[in-house]
Amino acid sequence: IYILAIESSCDDTAAAVLCNGRILSNIVATQEVHQQYGGVVPELASRAHQQNIVPVIHQAIKKANIDKKALSAIAFTRGPGLMGSLLVGTSFAKSLAMGLDIPLIEINHMQAHILAHFIEEDGYEKPQFPFLALTISGGHTQIVKVSDYFEMEVIGTTTDDAVGEAFDKSAKIMGLPYPGGPLIDKYAKEGNPKAFKFPKPKVSGLDFSFSGFKTAVLYFIQKQTKENPDFVEENLKDICASIQSTIIAILMDKLKLAVKETGIKQIAIGGGVSANSGIRNALKEAESKYGWTTFIPKFEYTTDNAAMIAIAGHYKFLKKDFSDFSITAQARYKF
Ligand code: ATP
Ligand code: FE
Repeated sequence: IYILAIESSCDDTAAAVLCNGRILSNIVATQEVHQQYGGVVPELASRAHQQNIVPVIHQAIKKANIDKKALSAIAFTRGPGLMGSLLVGTSFAKSLAMGLDIPLIEINHMQAHILAHFIEEDGYEKPQFPFLALTISGGHTQIVKVSDYFEMEVIGTTTDDAVGEAFDKSAKIMGLPYPGGPLIDKYAKEGNPKAFKFPKPKVSGLDFSFSGFKTAVLYFIQKQTKENPDFVEENLKDICASIQSTIIAILMDKLKLAVKETGIKQIAIGGGVSANSGIRNALKEAESKYGWTTFIPKFEYTTDNAAMIAIAGHYKFLKKDFSDFSITAQARYKF
């Protein structure tokens, strides 16, 4: 089974070819135009996708070293994401599937972040059903009970900001460029996580909240820089380490509660923020500390990529779960 997948939900244009669940190619074109604005500008993202999509798909097919005619199906991200961005990938996927006369398969981006764990890799053990997935990204923060490939239930979600936003907005407050998440991670490695204290939100159950945290970071930085204009510069590593350790504590508290409530001790993480080294370490530690089995994806499968869309497409192909050509993109797409 050869699946070509297209991902264009936000600001990365990506295409991948999988053969029986194994990656033949996985191409991502990242858009740099947004950096100067400190966040993704939807209109610019859509335009950049239009420019990138043909070369990215060409490259994916070329690198896979196959003929287009060998493809079994085209999988694409239907949502959730930015409408203008999604439309580019959706329209292209439809035309390509129509032209090649092969099935079209729609994929939910958040399910794909989880299914990335099923990409065939030597030496990577896949999670077994049921497991809990912590999907942490630029737009989402979810704890998902995964009973089968497409049988997923969101049992916890954010009531306001996503965890990726908590990272990026904190970084912005400190004057770091967008996206600031990876930079906080980098500086945190050399800082003292106990240097400063930030409050953890009080949200009941398995839900999250990060807007209060962000405000606390803002007030803290404003107050400190009033007293010492060089405060951020002088303490950057310690501030980053303290912010990161608070965010990780918030996530781990909810995961522990989810394990307690469901009795499931298999935990898989996914989404862009799961690239964070602190979160990876905390999960590794939880194996011996709480007896969990944890699944941590390779870096290239954490942030947006098309390989995860392709593996989700592979499993839908096995079920013959194909989409009609009248299908449209869906910016808010729950599962
Ligand atoms: P969604 O998947 O919810 O639609 P998205 O596709 O924009 O959102 P991803 O690409 O999955 O998001 O993740 C991007 C986010 O991950 C950004 O907020 C970025 O700062 C964050 N991120 C990436 N690497 C790290 C890291 N090492 N530490 C913390 N955050 C990180
Ligand atoms: Fe994503």
